[in-house]
Amino acid sequence: MIEMQDVWKTYSNGTHALKGISVKIDRNEFVYLVGPSGAGKSTFMKLIYREEVPTKGQISVNGFNIGRLKQRKIPYVRRNIGVVFQDFRLLPKLNVYENVAFAMEVVEAPKKVIRKRVPEVLELVGLKNKATRDPSQLSGGEQQRVAIARAIVNNPSVIIADEPTGNLDPETSWGIMQLLDEINFRGTTIVMATHNKDIVNTMRKRVIAIEHGNIVRDEMRGEYGYEF
Ligand code: ADP
Ligand code: ADP
Repeated sequence: MIEMQDVWKTYSNGTHALKGISVKIDRNEFVYLVGPSGAGKSTFMKLIYREEVPTKGQISVNGFNIGRLKQRKIPYVRRNIGVVFQDFRLLPKLNVYENVAFAMEVVEAPKKVIRKRVPEVLELVGLKNKATRDPSQLSGGEQQRVAIARAIVNNPSVIIADEPTGNLDPETSWGIMQLLDEINFRGTTIVMATHNKDIVNTMRKRVIAIEHGNIVRDEMRGEYGYEF
């Protein structure tokens, strides 16, 4: 479902962030991306959700060659990919319900569908009774649950998560991991960059390690493999 063939990314300042990556990620896999800071993990993910385009090589997501996508087709691809960030990135002036509903309004879902779907998703992430809170009234873990609700509300086939537990304490991080595991179990592919050694070594999944823009390791049920 996600396939990269000899993908290179060179930023305009000359930095070679990815240097000829080839990889296949199947439907319903859960993949950890590990590696030192600056290795190319975020760039790898940005190419998947089409925040960046490759300098060379091909990337297909669900059969679309997304590097060459016509401008008007980008929303269709984006709708099929949910993104979660380390710093949550909620809209501060909207409440929990509205933050999640907004993601459906953007893709012009019918009001009736939004009213049915948003409460379902808030229930799944355990925030049904906090729908009218503002993000500032929530803990970090709760804010990340809202961000995850927003990411899955349009039923994407892929979730991209860039260090989703990076700002959370260990216990809260485990709660977020259980939620992502449940979402994966229900049929969503997950690609998650992380520096959390405990999580990777305990909740064993496929591990792809990137260093200096190259894949240096790719193992099913792999280990974190670094001391930091
Ligand atoms: P990671 O997520 O593993 O920390 P990144 O993909 O963010 O790595 O970065 C890979 C390399 O590309 C780094 O050297 C980084 O400084 C560089 N880089 C990332 N984004 C940009 C950008 N927009 N412009 C120039 N260089 C960038
Ligand atoms: P509209 O007035 O645009 O049709 P809605 O009737 O769906 O919008 O909702 C109006 C506001 O009421 C929302 O922005 C939200 O803050 C709140 N709201 C709607 N449904 C719920 C719900 N199930 N739980 C919590 N708050 C809700």
